[in-house]
Amino acid sequence: MRKETLIIKIDPEIMEEQLVVAGKMLAAGKTVAFPTETVYGLGANALSESAVDAIYEAKGRPSDNPLIVHIARLDMLGELAGEVKPYAKILMEAFWPGPITFVVKKKDHVPYKVTGGLETVGVRMPNHPVALKLIELSGVPVAAPSANLSGKPSPTDVKYVLKDMNGRVDCIVDGGDSHVGLESTVLDVTGEVPVILRPGKITREMIAKCVGGCEVDPALVDKSRQDLVPKSPGMKYRHYAPDAEVSVYSGDIMAVIRTFYGRIIEVVESGGSIGIMFFEEDALVLERLLEDDAVYKRHREKVHFMKEGSSKDLDTFARNLFKDLRKLDELGADIVLVHGVSENELGHAIMNRLDKASEGRVFKI
Ligand code: AMP
Ligand code: MG
Repeated sequence: MRKETLIIKIDPEIMEEQLVVAGKMLAAGKTVAFPTETVYGLGANALSESAVDAIYEAKGRPSDNPLIVHIARLDMLGELAGEVKPYAKILMEAFWPGPITFVVKKKDHVPYKVTGGLETVGVRMPNHPVALKLIELSGVPVAAPSANLSGKPSPTDVKYVLKDMNGRVDCIVDGGDSHVGLESTVLDVTGEVPVILRPGKITREMIAKCVGGCEVDPALVDKSRQDLVPKSPGMKYRHYAPDAEVSVYSGDIMAVIRTFYGRIIEVVESGGSIGIMFFEEDALVLERLLEDDAVYKRHREKVHFMKEGSSKDLDTFARNLFKDLRKLDELGADIVLVHGVSENELGHAIMNRLDKASEGRVFKI
């Protein structure tokens, strides 16, 4: 059923006034999409089963995939969480508000609908003025997965929220672009040491520095082990995937560039269209190779380049990753080739999302 969607474009001067109506909608069990620093979220009252149902319905999301519950102040955690370990409190103080979700024991009244049937709940305090004000005005904890149709790349630009969700939700708050660009780190803090279930902007190194240690879910480390099931249910789904077929290449820079060159010619010669996501450092060499190529010259409108800044600036790559995958879909690319990065620090999260987007077509050359 198509819904009437109220669209609110935020003017920072009068933000609070503008958000009152959206806050009331959340309190009344309606669905509201809103910006956070990671990606846009699709929110509803986390303590109302029917409100949470409306999220799953709008997204077309499998209901064993738990939702992250968003809070505006630390004291809201007490409403949701049972025991919180001392080291977890230290991490919350250090990184909240910010792009990290803590998986904690849930209180009885948190519906299993929100937790995908688990005894734990994922909680996050986003670092975004619009999100914080909206949650505060609603007066309820807000369950919010990314505001995209299930399986599509998470939206970092309201344009893609409108594309996926207009007519499917009650309200969309337009508050500009999400600057982190990747979903939050998901950290299990129910055990003796923190365990990363989904890598993100807050890295293993940052967490370990703060509390002395941090592990990573073994299912994320060794992808060849089919017997290891990720502890974060969402990680097992095909996720973040654009329409184009994505392949990721990393390793020797010249080998990567030569592979890109060869595949560009092969794809355009057979009548296809191709997108290239690469770094400034690659561009000069690749452009020189293509400049003298007659096949490329004839088909150059079929080749779309997305320069992701310098390979040393992974923040920019993270911020633009999902947006550029969406753009390449709009441009009609059949094939997308991405220059991969090493899996340290923020590179871990980037390669995790690229692994999903490419359905495992990740090559070291
Ligand atoms: P999204 O809301 O689309 O960013 O996805 C939320 C992610 O957090 C998914 O990968 C979930 O599986 C994960 N998550 C949320 N709550 C829990 C939980 N209680 N235990 C494990 N993973 C969780
Ligand atoms: Mg998502």
